[in-house]
Amino acid sequence: MKKRLLTGLQSSGDLHIGNYFGALKPFVDMYEEYESFLMVADYHALTSVRDPEVLRQNIRNVVRDYLAVGVDPKQAVIFRQSDNQDHMELGWIFNCMVTVPFLMQAHAYKDKVAKGIEPNAGLFTYPMLQAADIALYDTDVVPVGEDQRQHLEYTREAIRKVNLAYNNEHLLKEPETVIIDGVGVVPGTDGTKMSKSYKNTVPLFGTREDIQKAVMSIVTDSSGERPEHVYAIHKLFKSEAELVPLYEEHKGKYKALKDALAEDIDASLSPMRERRAAITDADVDAVLADGLMRAKAVSTPVLNRVRDAIGINLS
Ligand code: ATP
Ligand code: MG
Repeated sequence: MKKRLLTGLQSSGDLHIGNYFGALKPFVDMYEEYESFLMVADYHALTSVRDPEVLRQNIRNVVRDYLAVGVDPKQAVIFRQSDNQDHMELGWIFNCMVTVPFLMQAHAYKDKVAKGIEPNAGLFTYPMLQAADIALYDTDVVPVGEDQRQHLEYTREAIRKVNLAYNNEHLLKEPETVIIDGVGVVPGTDGTKMSKSYKNTVPLFGTREDIQKAVMSIVTDSSGERPEHVYAIHKLFKSEAELVPLYEEHKGKYKALKDALAEDIDASLSPMRERRAAITDADVDAVLADGLMRAKAVSTPVLNRVRDAIGINLS
C-alpha cells in the first residue's frame, strides 16, 4: 500500500524557473511513490483575491501548470477544494474545536497583522480549513519547503485537539511532514533570490523572446573572468563538465555566454511550453471532474466518521 500524499496549489501569477526547480520538479520526481492528491486551493485564495475573473483564470492555470510540467492526472488526483464541500464542513467542525487564542498564534495571520493589513475572518480561520483539507484524506505525508514546516505543525496540533476532544486518537490521522529536497535557492537575474515580487525572474512558460530578454538582463560584473550570475543559472540546465570548457572558450565574452544560456534554457523548457499551450479549458475541466469523484470517494467516509463521533449523524 502506498502512503497517501496531499498538497495544495495556489496560483499567484506566472511561474518562474525558481518555482520549477525549487518546488514543481521535486514534486514531479516524488509524487508517483505515493497515492497523491493535488488540491487547487481556490477557497484559500478567496482570502486575498477579489477579482472574479482573476480567480477563475488562476484556478485553471494552476492545473495547466502542473499538467505541463509532467503530472499525470491518472496517477495523481487533481481536484478543487470548492468542488468538494466536505472541506467546508470539516473546516467548520475544526473551527468549533479550537480557541481564538490558538488561531491568533498562526504565522500567516500574525505576519499580515504586523504588515498593517486588516485581516478578514477567513484569513484568521484559514489554518482550520487547511487542517480539514489534510485530515479529510487520512493524509500520511504533506510535502513542503523548509519555510512551511511551521504551518504544518499547526495542522498537526489542531488534529490532536479534535482527537483529544472526543477521546479517540484514531479519529483523524496526524500527517508527517516531508521536507522537499529542492535545489536550494535559485538566484534571479540580479543575483538575489528569484521571486515574482522582485521582478528578477526567468519565466517558466515564457516565449523564446521572453527568455532571451530575461537572460540579457542578468547582471554581470566586469571584474571576474566568469560571469557568476550567468553561470549560476546555467548550472541548472547543463552539467559543470559541459559548462567549464564552454566558459573557458568564451572567457570574458558575456554576450556569447548569455546567448548560449538562452538557447539552453529554451531547448529545455520548450517541450513543457508546447504541452501547456495545447491544454484547453475543456481538458482542465475534465481533469477536475474526474478528480472530484476520486477525492469524494476518500473524503466522504472520513467526514462521516467525524459526524458520527460528534453527534451530528443521528444514527
Ligand atoms: P513571491 O515573490 O510572491 O513570494 P515567489 O516567486 O517567491 O513569489 P512563491 O509562490 O512564494 O514564489 O513560491 C512557490 C514555490 O516556489 C515555493 O515552494 C517556494 O519555496 C519555491 N520558490 C520560490 N522562489 C524560489 C527560488 N528562487 N528558488 C527555489 N525555490 C523557489
Ligand atoms: Mg515567496
